[in-house]
Amino acid sequence: MSEVRVAIAGSSGSIGTQTLDVVRAERDRFRVVALGVSTSVDLLIEQAREFRPEVVAVADESRRAEVASALPFVEVVANFDDLIGPAEVVVNAVVGFAGLPVTLGTLGAGKRLALANKESLIAAGPVVRPLRSTPGAEIVPVDSEHCAVHQCLRSSRRTSTEVARIVLTASGGPFRGRTLDELREVSVEQALAHPTWAMGPKITVDSSTLMNKGLEVIEAHELFDVDYDRIEVVVHPQSVVHSMVEFTDGSTMAQLSLPDMRLPIGYALAFPDRISSPFGRIDWSRLERLDFAEPDRSTFRCLDLAYRAGRTGGTAPAFLSAANEVAVDAFLAGRLKWAEIAAVVESALDDHVVTSGNVGSDDVIDADERGRAAARKVLESTG
Ligand code: MG
Repeated sequence: MSEVRVAIAGSSGSIGTQTLDVVRAERDRFRVVALGVSTSVDLLIEQAREFRPEVVAVADESRRAEVASALPFVEVVANFDDLIGPAEVVVNAVVGFAGLPVTLGTLGAGKRLALANKESLIAAGPVVRPLRSTPGAEIVPVDSEHCAVHQCLRSSRRTSTEVARIVLTASGGPFRGRTLDELREVSVEQALAHPTWAMGPKITVDSSTLMNKGLEVIEAHELFDVDYDRIEVVVHPQSVVHSMVEFTDGSTMAQLSLPDMRLPIGYALAFPDRISSPFGRIDWSRLERLDFAEPDRSTFRCLDLAYRAGRTGGTAPAFLSAANEVAVDAFLAGRLKWAEIAAVVESALDDHVVTSGNVGSDDVIDADERGRAAARKVLESTG
């Protein structure tokens, strides 16, 4: 068996380091050929010494020379785009809208995209869609819910006519069951204390507001071409059922495992094969119960804001995602209360002007900028 050549854009973050864990566990199956970070060069140097890639990208120009002298055996470049060339599979683990060039570049090069950067697909859906038909290009999602749906759909020969609905599960985050009144003064630390998943700060805050689930609804729509009326969200606090697909005959397929991102990462790297390391394996003697409940849409308003942007389509998801990034940054910096994140996103979304006609890359970048500006304006006006 020849090794699959893997590039990781964003190798210092949570998904990046867990991808390297998967490679460590499956050395005869995968080989790391390219790594990229924005600023975490110390970790990058350590990773490169262990995995011996051909190329590393360092976005921070001031640190590039230091990396080059520490790693004389590797080519040091500036752009994440340059990680794509030597790879067969590119893991896009960049945080936020900044991941767009890697998504577009990988699909345009006709390669497999292991997509952990959901923002690029959500914001640039209309631009990504045609690129997916590039020969050789495919997206395998590195998001536990979409990995679950991807697996459930493997049993279906006629997805377009046989899927009744996709049911995305949500852990509910650290504030599940709380009222808006109880959530007025929550701290950054409380929002970052996720009950079932250890993730980066941006996505953890998004989980606490249910914006992450809302973005995942748009992500599911883009990935699986299912309309919004057939994508539902159910709260499932144990994070064992990672999502479900209900078919027209009443059958529901679900994918279950303990929460461990190395499973979706390994799935995306090895697809259509499966790795042999059982990450997240369930011990049924210890699994006591699985609970399901309706989401609280009035406390966690971001969920329906995302549905609204998704249904509007065009550049609205880009606008929503950009406004949310600004609001989350402000919350993390102590400049905005948690309970006001939804209000900032909603006011920004009210400002969005629907783009008619074909949406291109420039429209998406423009919508991202306008979304950020609209959110900043709301932040300034609320002081
Ligand atoms: Mg997810």
